[in-house]
Order: sequence, then C-alpha cells, then structure tokens
Amino acid sequence: MKTTPDNSGDVRLSGISKTYDNGFTAVQPLDLTVPEGSFFALLGASGCGKTTTLRMIAGLEEPSSGTVRLGDQDVTHLPPYKRPVNTVFQSYALFPHLDIYENVAFGLRRRGVKSVKKQVEEMLELVQLGEQARKKPHQLSGGQQQRVAVARALINHPKVLLLDEPLGALDLKLRRQMQLELKRIQTEVGITFVHVTHDQEEAMTMADTVAVMNGGRVEQLGAPTDLYENPRTTFVANFLGTSNLIEAEVDTKNGADIVLKAGGGKLVLPEARCSAPTTAGGKVLVGIRPEKIALTHADDAGSIPEGRNRVTGKIADASFIGVSTQYVIDTPVCDEFAVYAQNVERDGRLVPGADVVLHWSPAHTFGLDAAQDIDAGTEEEAA
Ligand code: ATP
Repeated sequence: MKTTPDNSGDVRLSGISKTYDNGFTAVQPLDLTVPEGSFFALLGASGCGKTTTLRMIAGLEEPSSGTVRLGDQDVTHLPPYKRPVNTVFQSYALFPHLDIYENVAFGLRRRGVKSVKKQVEEMLELVQLGEQARKKPHQLSGGQQQRVAVARALINHPKVLLLDEPLGALDLKLRRQMQLELKRIQTEVGITFVHVTHDQEEAMTMADTVAVMNGGRVEQLGAPTDLYENPRTTFVANFLGTSNLIEAEVDTKNGADIVLKAGGGKLVLPEARCSAPTTAGGKVLVGIRPEKIALTHADDAGSIPEGRNRVTGKIADASFIGVSTQYVIDTPVCDEFAVYAQNVERDGRLVPGADVVLHWSPAHTFGLDAAQDIDAGTEEEAA
C-alpha cells in the first residue's frame, strides 16, 4: 500500500480499543479519521463508548491497543498536557473566584505570556461576552458559562477541541441556541471540533460528519443527511429519527430496482439503496421514514399515481401536534406504521377507524439486512 506523508492536522485513530481493568471492553478496535477543520460528532446512547473514545484522544484514558495520531505526530503515549488538544466538559469547571476575563486569560498566564489583553478581548468577542468580562462565573447563565469554558480552551490555540456533552446541563431552548452558537464559533476559528452527544438532533444540527456508535463500535459514519436518508443498520435507522421497517422477501429484479413481496403485496426498492443481499428469496427489512409517506382515504385510492409503493391500513390513532399530524396505522405489513403529515390541507375523513392507503416513492425507500441484526445480537449475547 502506498503511504503518503501526512502533514495535515487530521485526527487518526488506528485500531484503538479500551478494555477496563474489570475486563469490560468499552471500545472495540476502531479506525477513525477526523479531518482537520471539521465539526465531528460521536453520537450514541449512554454507555456506547463515545466518552471513552474522546478521553483516549485527550490522553485522559490509556488505550488498550492502537494508536492516536494528530497529523504526523503519534500522541498515543503523551500525557494530556503535552497534546495540542483541549477539552470542554459538561460541568464548565470555571474558577469560581476569578472573573470571566481572568478565567479566559488563565492558560496564557500559566504559560508565562505577559501581554494577554488583546487575545483575551478577541476571545471574549468571539463568544460574545465582552460586556461580562468583570463578572464572576456564578453571575452568568449556564449558556454563558459554557461559552467562557469554550473561550478558555480556544485561547490555547489547540489543534483539536474536544467537547464532552458540553450542553448537557442546559435547558432545551438554551441548548438549541448554543448549538448554533458553537457551530458559528467553529466556522469562525476553523479548528477541528470533536463533540460527544447522545442527542441526535444536536449532532445533526452542528456536525458535518457524525459517527453513530453502538456497543463500542461505529455502526455508520457520514454526513447527517446521508445517515438519515441512507441508514445501513436498524440501529441507525431508529436512533436517528423514526423508521417504519417492513419484513420482506426479494422476488425479482427490474432494471435498477428490486421487487419485494411483503404481506401479500409488492414493494419496489432501488437496488443501490439496499444494504442486504438481493438474491431472490433473500430477507430484507424495507424502511421508510414517516414524513415521506402520503395518506389517502381508501375511497380515493384510484387517484394515487402509478409507480408508488402502497400499503392499505386502518388509522389507529391521530395526534395533532401543530406543524404536523402524527398517525399510527394498522397495516398487514407493520402493526404500528407511523405517518407524519404536514398540516397544509387536512382531509377531515382521516380519523381513527378510517380505511386508508399509505403510499410513497420507491426512491425514498431503503433496504436493510435483517440477518445482520440477528448476527449482531448473537455476538453480543455470546460476549
Ligand atoms: P455516557 O453518555 O453515559 O457517558 P458513553 O457512551 O460516553 O456514555 P462511556 O463513558 O465511554 O460511554 O462508557 C462506556 C462503557 O464503559 C460503559 O458501560 C461504562 O460503564 C464503562 N466504563 C466507563 N468507565 C469505566 C471504568 N473506569 N471501569 C470500568 N468500566 C467503565
């Protein structure tokens, strides 16, 4: 294999894993590259190993195997303070007795920098806290304190800023504001941000690349839209938003499409959007997102255009939530089919008990390997 010198500031994890002293493996051998200047999110449920991965980049946790590189430099065995990285934690960890200015100046003063004024003022400007410079941390809101923590880390000019659930302590509205704020700051300074979160909306709002972790492994990595539109495992399909999954069997191929049998009917799926083997008789989980589905009252079924996937059903529940109405539909292929319809022109007949046809474009359909999840389950049980 040809190797090229790597002068970039990419973070490269190669075969990195972590088994704790009690024998528990929190991170399975992992290869991951975080491109320089990107906003990268490690996303997953509690306990999936995302914080352990972040701590191995920071040097706060010794990997059991593998290497951590920052560009050309192998930092695997460097202590945290010798790595060009800084971490922002959920608990802001500000110095309570110092004012905001001095909190931000701390890193510079510790390194013996004499004139800190210009840099501190620039940093306070960046996080929009110039006016608050002489306040103490307890006089600021949670969001403002977190911005001080970010400024305090960035003033050291790290190559990489690690953020460990930094917005976890904030209420929902402030979280949303801070997500946009952090994204703005990252774009402005251009430093690589690696962000750990269990909140899929947060990861999708901020990051250009998201790695979805499950059971110490990265299940899928990609841009938020790609992960959402083309999930390759049932975990990703359900962790990022909601997916309806239909058990189906490959019948035939028709050009670039696969035709599948499901509950006595036929469904069409572009072969390129299927991560399962597509040989005849193979089992596929056919996925479709709730907002991609249109609902038509059964009396108007004749008006549905040709070429759409269709499933008949009966409305079990309809919840009006303002921007949309969320329906639960009993169908022969899936007990609780979720359909989200925007409240533009509401058909008054679409109420619980109504017979309906659900229909959607084959282009929005994705196919998952049913056997893959069974294998993963067996592996986990065996471990
Ligand atoms: P959370 O969002 O809850 O922090 P996480 O995805 O960040 O979850 P980690 O903190 O990386 O998960 O932990 C992964 C697994 O490793 C968990 O099951 C946790 O209990 C276990 N673990 C973490 N630290 C240790 C330790 N020092 N010794 C043993 N097991 C640990």
